[in-house]
Amino acid sequence: MGLSVPEGGHRAGAGRHGVGSVPVDDATLMAMAIEEARRALGHHDVPVGALVVRDGEVLASRHNERELTGDPTAHAEVLVIRDAAAAVGSWRLDGCTMVVTLEPCVMCGGALVNARMGRLVYGAPDLGAGACLSLYNVCDDPRLNHRLDVVAGVEAVACATLLTDFFQARR
Ligand code: ZN
Repeated sequence: MGLSVPEGGHRAGAGRHGVGSVPVDDATLMAMAIEEARRALGHHDVPVGALVVRDGEVLASRHNERELTGDPTAHAEVLVIRDAAAAVGSWRLDGCTMVVTLEPCVMCGGALVNARMGRLVYGAPDLGAGACLSLYNVCDDPRLNHRLDVVAGVEAVACATLLTDFFQARR
């Protein structure tokens, strides 16, 4: 589907990252992101979790805090990009992978481009707001100055179930 347009030398579509000699695959990382997403339930936020990983090391892990903070920009992706940039000591996160349970929105897709994130792995599609295939393709648009390697649908059912359970419980 034309998703792989890597920039620079990152591992295009490799799907595996080494922790020393121990490989960490996308599904394992997504399971960690799902655990992170569950933490949002503690403050009645929509359960979305995100990690930033580099060379198999988790640099940062955050969940949605929009209700908790009253901040419309407090999506998991924005928060985790800020933490990862602080951890790396640079706004440039090329060579890093974001793993997030839900397809990023326009704001978060824009943040990924601005962070020069190397790769995006997401779980459930967001047909109402997703900007990384569903409604737009912000992360792979030749008109923008950076394009990411995008892998969609990793552990999609588990990620989506988390959300549907949350919204059903609220009714
Ligand atoms: Zn977002």
